[in-house]
This record gives sequence, structure tokens and C-alpha cells, in this order.
Amino acid sequence: MSKPLRLRSEMSQLPTYKAGKKAEAVAGLTAFKLSSNENPIEPLPGIIDVITQAALEVHRYPDPLVSQLTNALAARHNVAPELIATGTGSVGVCQQIVQAVAGAGDEVIFAWRSFEAYPIIATIAGAKSVQVPLTATNGHDLPAMAAAITDATRLIFVCTPNNPTGTTVSQLEFDEFMKSVPQDVLVVIDEAYVEFNRDPQALDGLATMRRYPNVGVLRTFSKAYGLAALRIGFFIGPEEIADAVRKTAVPFGVSNIAQAAAVASLELEAELLKRVETIVQTREWFEKEIREVGYDLPASQANFVWLPLKERTDEFVAQCTAQAVAVRPFSGEGVRITMGEREPLLRLIDILKSF
Ligand SMILES: *Cc1c(COP(=O)(O)O)cnc(C)c1O
Repeated sequence: MSKPLRLRSEMSQLPTYKAGKKAEAVAGLTAFKLSSNENPIEPLPGIIDVITQAALEVHRYPDPLVSQLTNALAARHNVAPELIATGTGSVGVCQQIVQAVAGAGDEVIFAWRSFEAYPIIATIAGAKSVQVPLTATNGHDLPAMAAAITDATRLIFVCTPNNPTGTTVSQLEFDEFMKSVPQDVLVVIDEAYVEFNRDPQALDGLATMRRYPNVGVLRTFSKAYGLAALRIGFFIGPEEIADAVRKTAVPFGVSNIAQAAAVASLELEAELLKRVETIVQTREWFEKEIREVGYDLPASQANFVWLPLKERTDEFVAQCTAQAVAVRPFSGEGVRITMGEREPLLRLIDILKSF
């Protein structure tokens, strides 16, 4: 009899990352995918040419230090390049951070529900996830998160705007929270949706990072910048953490194509912000329509909205599927709807009117 292969015990509990589904085809209807918080518009003008040019070099390994992008980001955000570490999407960077700071027996605190990659990444590192429930209004419960800190805590994620609820943490709340965080515990502010945030009270990650020795920020080119498939994101924070993140990286993980597209996109920020504004306006329009139909939903500051349909989530999602619209269900809790084109959103409003 052959023996089963020996895996780490964590592997049996490890959930697989659930990606947003594709829309299923329905006769007579254009299908739309509103399930992964992607940018509905194609890359910024000229980016495809940049990608094509970079593709001529793919027989070479890329620059392992991702220097050009690191320097561009340093100039853009007015920080030393040493404080910046890039990776294969901000999920990649997130994983590098966890591996750098937390191992077996250590604890990683985050709100729940929040980004579904956090528990997976903590488990891969062998660390324990400490999940602190969101408040009744779907926001981070920072006092409860502060109360969850122990001697084993190594890292705290603060996701703002929060995926999947769209809520933000205010600067005031965060500064109060930091009074309870020991200086040797790293706090990472995940700002994947920062470009869409219009809340004047909201926490400013980069300004905050400059004020605390143990705060870092995670950003991505996947959402507002529309480069999700190229897998590129970055960390800005304490130099020793940025150094450690460089050490835990898969060598040559960031391709020359991703780097070139990101650098070129940074130069098109004005154009980008116009597109972001369109999505913000779609969000405001959609939230208003939904409220008029009679649904209560938290005000979102991201490129998606959260509809807390609780036990009726699956039923609603089935109706969306029948209308060729893919959304992101969290069974028993609610549904996350990415702000994309208006046509599928109009279909969803129609569904809700008779739901
Ligand atoms: C989408 C998302 C990310 C980024 O994903 P990448 O594509 O890996 O950059 C990070 N954090 C949150 C909260 C997200 O929703």
C-alpha cells in the first residue's frame, strides 16, 4: 500500500481563493461581469503600445529590483525609494509582508468580513488569523481590534475602503486606535480602492505612514488603473519592512511588461482620475436608485457597493445570473456589485424593484 504524501497540516484547512465568476451567457442579452471589482474600461490610451514594446524583451529576465517603477513611485509620493517594495499584485505584496513578520504561533488581526485573501495568506504563513467582526454599520470595529492585540500579534490589516462593504476608517478613529498598538506591531493600511474614496474624514494612508514608525500602506494597479491581469502592486512603509518584503519576493515576479505599463500609467494620472470620477458618479447614481427602491445599503467609497441581502442573497444572485450579470455573492450575508457599465446595473435595479 502506498502512503499518502505528507502535506503541512494547514493545507487541509486552507480555502482556495474564490475569484469572481464570469457572467453566463443568456440568449438575447449581453453578458456583464460585475464580480471582481475590475475596471470596466480598457487600459489607458497608449498602454497597449507600451505593453507591445515591452513584450519584445520577454526572452530576458526582468529587472529584479523593479527600479524604474520604484523610482517613479518614490517621486510621485515623495518618499525615499528604500521605503517602497513592489510585488505581483498587492496580494503578492501582502503575502510577502505576512511571511516577513508572522510565522507559527503568531497572530494576524483583521476585520471580518474583509478581503478574503487575508485569512488564506495568514494560514499559508502558519500564523493564526484573528478575525474581528465588523460593526452593525459594516465598518471596522477598531476598539475591538485594539482589544484583540496580544503578545503574539505581529500584524494588523486595516482595509479602507473595506472590501466587500465599501466603508472607510476615519483619520480620527485610526489615530485613536494607534494609541493601543505597540510600536513593534506592524499596521498595514490596504488602500486598494483609495482612488475612489471621496470621504473627507477618511484616513490618509500615506500621510499616516509618515507619522508612525510602524505603519505601511498597500496600493495596487489592478483596480483604478485597470491593470489587473499584469499583477502589480506595492508597499510603502518602514524601510526594514520594505527590505524584508524584497527578500520574501519570488525572484523576477514583476514582469517587464507589468513594470512598463505601470510606469506609463502613472504618467497618465489626469486621464485616469477622469475615468475614476465616472465610476464614482455611477456609484452615487446606483446607490441613490437602490435607496429609492427601498433598500438600505452602506455608503460605499470604492468601485463597488455592498447589498446586505442576508438570507436572500442566493435568490437575488440567481436572478442576476438569469439576466446575464455576474455579481459576487457572500451566501447568507450579502452581495458585492462592481460599478461597471450602466446597462447591467439597470438590470439589477429592475430585479430589485420586484424582489
Ligand atoms: C483587489 C484587492 C487587492 C489587490 O489585488 P491585486 O490585484 O493583487 O493588486 C488588495 N486588497 C484588497 C482589499 C482588494 O480588494
